Amino acid sequence: MTEYAEDVHVQTRAVHITATPPVGSIPAAVPLYQTSLFTFDDLGEFSNAWAKTGGAFTYSRFGNPTTKAFEDTIAKMESGSSAMATASGMGAISAVLLSLLRTGDHVIAQRGLYGGVFSLLADLTERWGIEVTYIDAEDPREVEKACRATTKILYLETIANPMGHVCDLPSFAAAARAQNLITVVDNTFASPVLCQPLRHGADVVVHSTTKYIGGHADVVGGIVVVDDGTVAEKIWSFGAELGASADPFAAWLSIRGLQTLPVRMRVHCENARTIAERLAVHPKVCEVHWPGLPDHRSHEIATELLSDFGGVFAFDLRGGMQASHDFTKRIRVAALAPSLGGVSTTVLHPASISHSGMDENALDAAGIKPGTLRIAVGLEHVEDLWSDLEQALA
Ligand SMILES: *Cc1c(COP(=O)(O)O)cnc(C)c1O
Repeated sequence: MTEYAEDVHVQTRAVHITATPPVGSIPAAVPLYQTSLFTFDDLGEFSNAWAKTGGAFTYSRFGNPTTKAFEDTIAKMESGSSAMATASGMGAISAVLLSLLRTGDHVIAQRGLYGGVFSLLADLTERWGIEVTYIDAEDPREVEKACRATTKILYLETIANPMGHVCDLPSFAAAARAQNLITVVDNTFASPVLCQPLRHGADVVVHSTTKYIGGHADVVGGIVVVDDGTVAEKIWSFGAELGASADPFAAWLSIRGLQTLPVRMRVHCENARTIAERLAVHPKVCEVHWPGLPDHRSHEIATELLSDFGGVFAFDLRGGMQASHDFTKRIRVAALAPSLGGVSTTVLHPASISHSGMDENALDAAGIKPGTLRIAVGLEHVEDLWSDLEQALA
């Protein structure tokens, strides 16, 4: 801020506070630039920055130093060239779909998608005439079969919710490329620690950073990562027009979470392995859907694609709906709650919560039963967690 006379009034003094930028030393943590706008000394520099040629920050919906630190780091972790942090995971997904699609376009999407995306696609169909074909994502030939002249996007999830289905991403991305489609992958469940979809042929990666990247159940956010500059420009400019941008404080909290992501993921996966293996032999449980188990239908491809198998999975209780009610009433260490990826364990009933938008046929096709529960394994001591689940099953 420009220097001005010392003899200003108390009101002006109170309003115009300047922080001295550190000189000769660097803050160890990324500073939080909780500012919506930036000031300039020179109109020429301002107009250059506004036209995005100067590169200076102008207004935080278009860019902010704290948010950019988060974006640049995730872009590198995902092997992309740039990233855009958004206000939520759905903000990221909406920005991608709305910037790459127009009326009459067609999307091929994996069945059993995150519920919010399923509803968004249904709305886009009804209101904007965007058509969707759902595939099982078991055989890459499904892409060519479903493809039309108007198809623009193949939409997949690295580890699908809640049954842990992992598709053969390299083959699906190659099949999409052969048809000139853009492959979008939701990498929320794997995080960049377990998988980097851009390395396997994906064009766009999206995350709900609310989950593992934030990691502490205290921030809602999302991010889009792209390697191709033309695709990035389309998404960044439309995303900013939509107002999908992240708030700097949310980005700052996400940075704080991100620093421990690899360590947390290791424990989430280790704890999930112990719980999955014990549930798999428990008499009250008929099936466990963790892709790390050798009899899971995606085990082979998951072993090739992921460095570990994640912390979220579903399991089926023998007693159906009543057993689901009893179990969720008795848990004490694990909490009955939506969401996942935080430090503490959460359990939910997909048929009545995350997948309640599906009718009976769709639930059946997705393998979700009245006795199916989803657990997002946290960072508690695994024996405390197991004792809790064991007493809840008794
Ligand atoms: C939670 C979630 C989303 C949506 O993210 P929000 O941050 O809640 O908007 C999208 N995809 C997956 C896989 C999720 O788990």
